[in-house]
Amino acid sequence: MSDSRSIFTKIIAREIPADIVFESDSVIAFRDIAPQAPVHLLVVPTTEEFANVAELAAGNPALLAELVSVAQKLADEHAGGQYRLIFNTGETAGQTVFHVHAHVLGGNLEEGTLG
Ligand code: ADP
Repeated sequence: MSDSRSIFTKIIAREIPADIVFESDSVIAFRDIAPQAPVHLLVVPTTEEFANVAELAAGNPALLAELVSVAQKLADEHAGGQYRLIFNTGETAGQTVFHVHAHVLGGNLEEGTLG
């Protein structure tokens, strides 16, 4: 039988390993396996699985607020409070995991398209 659960659902269930830096009743955060910046964390809601940030905002705005609050706390701890918060939305925008997650990028970021 194929397993359609996302890779992040399997991390939440501890079925595959991750470098977890934070966990609460509603949110988990771990280091990105292929970091794009000196600090690259992923912040993921655990109580419900939404495909993207718009669905999360519509379906559970309090959970989105919690996710942003955790991102700020982690950026304070790991990146001096200065960071980019990115939600890729849709395949052509680079989204590969359709389980909503915030990228927290920090450290000395190189200038890029948006930087
Ligand atoms: P993109 O791959 O373009 O960044 P997403 O915005 O969907 O697309 O982000 C998925 C992120 O999940 C990627 O940055 C990828 O490196 C990360 N990732 C994939 N598998 C794992 C894993 N097992 N542990 C940690 N991070 C992972």
